[in-house]
Formats: sequence, C-alpha cells, structure tokens
Amino acid sequence: MHTYAPLPVSFSHGEGAWLWDRDENRYLDAVAGVAVCSLGHAHPEIAAAMADQAKKLIHVSNLYHIEEQEQLAVRLASLATMERVFFCNSGAEANETSIKLARLHGHNLGYASPKIIVCEHSFHGRTLAALSATGNEKIQAGFAPLVEGFIRVPYNDFDAIRAAAENHGDIAAILVEPVQGEGGVNIPADDFLPNIRELCDQNNMLMMLDEVQTGVGRTGTWFAFQHSYIKPDVMNLAKGLGAGFPIGACLANGAAAALFGPGNHGSTFGGNPLGCRVAGTVLDIVEQQGLAANAATQGQRLVEGFKQSLGDLAGVKNIRGKGLMVGIELNKPCAELVKQALQQEQLLINVTASNVVRLLPPLIITEEQTDAIIDKVSRLIRAFL
Ligand code: PLP
Repeated sequence: MHTYAPLPVSFSHGEGAWLWDRDENRYLDAVAGVAVCSLGHAHPEIAAAMADQAKKLIHVSNLYHIEEQEQLAVRLASLATMERVFFCNSGAEANETSIKLARLHGHNLGYASPKIIVCEHSFHGRTLAALSATGNEKIQAGFAPLVEGFIRVPYNDFDAIRAAAENHGDIAAILVEPVQGEGGVNIPADDFLPNIRELCDQNNMLMMLDEVQTGVGRTGTWFAFQHSYIKPDVMNLAKGLGAGFPIGACLANGAAAALFGPGNHGSTFGGNPLGCRVAGTVLDIVEQQGLAANAATQGQRLVEGFKQSLGDLAGVKNIRGKGLMVGIELNKPCAELVKQALQQEQLLINVTASNVVRLLPPLIITEEQTDAIIDKVSRLIRAFL
C-alpha cells in the first residue's frame, strides 16, 4: 500500500555509518533508520549473535520460559532501575501496553473513565490508541472515532499539566517524550520531568515516558530520564533496543509493575529468543564501547559545529540537541533538503515538523564523520536559505 513516498535510491549494503546503493555509490548515514541502527550497519557482533541464535531457536512463544527473554529483562531492569518488562515488537505496541497499564491503574482507583494527559506535537505511533495519544492532527485525520480518554496540553508547559490534573479528577497517567523527536527535536526545561514526577506522586498518577526514540544511549545516557535524576513508573522502548531488529519493551516500576496478570496482555512475537539475544548483544556493545558517552560527545560537537557554521544566518531560527538527537530549525519549510542531501552530498538526513532538519546518526559515529556531517549539512542549508 502507498503509505510511504520513498526517495529514489535503494541500498544494497552498509558498514558502520556508511551505506552503498546498488550502483556502489557510498552515502553517509545521519538518520540511522530513524534512530534505530544505533550500532551502524552490518555490525559483525550483531550478525554473529543473530546467526548463532537462529541456528538454535528463533521462536517458541510465551507459553514457555524463554531464557534469553529473562536475561534481557533482568539486564534492562537493572540499567533502568525498574522492576518488570513486557516485550513486544515496536514503539507503538510498547505505547499501547503503557496505555493499557494506565487504564488498569485508573480502574483500580475507582475511575469509571480514566484519562491520560498527553502533549501537543507528540508522536507515539500509528496504531489507534497510539495515534489518538499523538499530538498531530494530520496523523489522526480520517481515522475517527479516535480512542477517547486523552487530555492534551502544550509540551514543556508544566502549569498546563497541573491545571489539567486539577480540572479532571480521573487522571490515571501522564505520557510524554523526554525529548520530542518527530515533533521537531523539542527539548523541555530541566525541571519539566522532575515537576511531572512530583505531581504524579502527589496525585497517584503514573509517570509514563515514551523513550522509543530517546532510549538506549541516544541522548547521552542509557535513558533520557537519567539526565533529570528522577525515575518514571513506566518507560517504553523500541528503535535502538534492537539496533535494527524489531523489538519493543514496556518497563514498569512500583505499583505499575504489578498491574498485569496472566491474560491481561500479550504478543505472539514479543520477547522471542532471537530478538532478545540480539537486544542483549546490543546492550553489551553499547556498554563496552561507551556509546552513550560517544553520543553525548559527538552530539555536542554537532551542535557547536552548526552554531559556528550556521549561527550567523537569519534563516536559521535555532540549533539544538540532546546527544545524537540534533535539530536545526529554519524559518521556512525545508522538506526538499532531504533529496538534495542525498543527491548532492551523498548524505542521509531527515526533516521533521516541516522546517526542522533532524539528524540522528548512529551512536558509533566518529569525530571525522561528525565533521563531515557538519560540512555537508551547512553547505546545503547555506545554499537553500
Ligand atoms: N514513539 C516515539 C517517540 C517515536 O519516535 C516513534 C517512532 O518514530 C514511535 C513511538 C512509534 O514507533 P514504531 O514506529 O516502532 O511503532
């Protein structure tokens, strides 16, 4: 079905941050499969783990104990200092899981119709509840009736969240991205998450973070919430967790960890031995190679580099980033830059929120490659403005 409008290129293979098309032209990848391929392409240890596990056991179903799943759950729970994990296959599915947790939590509190506070410009996925939570009317258009029970407030506006909580007696949870990705690389004030944490504690609401894009090292820490010295009740992961292998996870802590019992939720493919073995290997590599720290260093280098090369241009409204989520906001729509970057600079970039050039390079990016991205993107934007 025509759900995408692909660019006129097809890649046949990759290595690290490089991709080759079918005519053997080489491209630098500053999108990483939209924050997915955090270890770059064709990582030998991932390929080896995948092949080894495929020779042993790919799938057996959750009707049985799965050792690889249990090991991954223990590892993730320890990294996030959270208690329990539900495994699924995508970001949307992880968010759906958390929405169900919020509903159960609300019903346990006696709310007939529990609500979840969500934000404008958020993105939580394309399944019905996830797109209903998403703060983008284009994504919702044509799909009414939407799933009800979401109260929307502006992002990074804690007063609006507090007012919404005061106005509705039946808020079960708040669901936010620690940094909005699709919404334009929007970074909230330092006290935004701590304030939400406090409000949730005071009002028995679950603090739920969509870390599908920010999680597993991308912002410079294992999880973006760790910049704020707080802990959510629920955290959703996908994208970088499998570094290209489809896997999602919903982690829960405290009361939220005890909400589901047998029969409440499930996923046929979720937590299969192959996906869990791959994700476990991803975590090993991120840890051993200090890739979260590299994301912080290279991300800062990108932002500083762009400030130097583009900061003087009137058409550049803002340059911002958190680790390797970097956005350059222009004063006009710039979607055509994606094709220009591909064809003129052999560089993969992304444009989101219509006027934000978004860069999400793999976490293994080197200083030299970071500098090449700065050169190429700066040249393009200067010519464009
Ligand atoms: N949540 C966030 C923050 C995302 O960035 C995305 C994807 O871009 C999703 C959820 C949806 O993930 P998926 O496409 O794996 O369903």
